Amino acid sequence: MKQELIRAEKMNVVSQLAASVAHEIRNPMTSVRGFMQLLQKEELTKEQQLYINISIEELDRAQEIINQYLALAKPQTDQYEIINLTSLIQQSIDVMQSYALLNSIQITQEVEPSLKIEGLKLEVQQVFINIIKNAIEAIKSDGEIGISGSKTADGFVSIQIKDNGVGMTKDQLKKLGSPYYSTKEKGTGLGLTVCHQIVKQMGGQILINSELTKGTCFTINLPAYKKKSEEYTP
Ligand code: ADP
Ligand code: MG
Repeated sequence: MKQELIRAEKMNVVSQLAASVAHEIRNPMTSVRGFMQLLQKEELTKEQQLYINISIEELDRAQEIINQYLALAKPQTDQYEIINLTSLIQQSIDVMQSYALLNSIQITQEVEPSLKIEGLKLEVQQVFINIIKNAIEAIKSDGEIGISGSKTADGFVSIQIKDNGVGMTKDQLKKLGSPYYSTKEKGTGLGLTVCHQIVKQMGGQILINSELTKGTCFTINLPAYKKKSEEYTP
């Protein structure tokens, strides 16, 4: 038991260290990105512009990898709070709306009002953002993403995120969620790993249905918030 405690303590120190290193690296990267943008001028040759664009894209990719690692390494000491999932989903859609519009993709939602869960708000939002982002990238352009949500009879809140994108084969489905598995040229393959970890930690699960060329449906089930029964006072 004592050994376990020491190990947990060490892990906490390691992940805090990783988090602070990642945090420190972000600032110089942001400033490099800013200067790269300043260099983008019309009088540059096509080739020079291309090099600058690639540099900015690669910086963004490094940034995303750092963000995903931070999410994985985060020490789990945060307090759970009661979350209005319906508004959190709307906020996540709002965050992804410009990316969707850029690709001519429409996001519609039909989520029951005031669905509530107990959990870590920012983490749950990250799950929705990661999955919606994948859906957009699976469609590429001109398509639809439908989000629905309701309470189930067995005390869960169930959210479906459905896209009419490229879909996946059975083989691809099996590999899904293992770290670094990505079919994208610039993917990190960490997004779904993070999602699985967050949802599992809150006592939920993610189910995936997919058909090649037809589309994919992600189902996220999370325990619904239950009002604590009134304390007994004699
Ligand atoms: P990344 O997006 O960086 O590739 P993820 O962990 O988010 O990493 O996703 C891993 C892989 O799962 C993707 O590269 C893609 O092949 C597949 N995938 C995820 N979501 C979908 C989806 N909605 N439709 C089709 N494929 C998907
Ligand atoms: Mg992704």
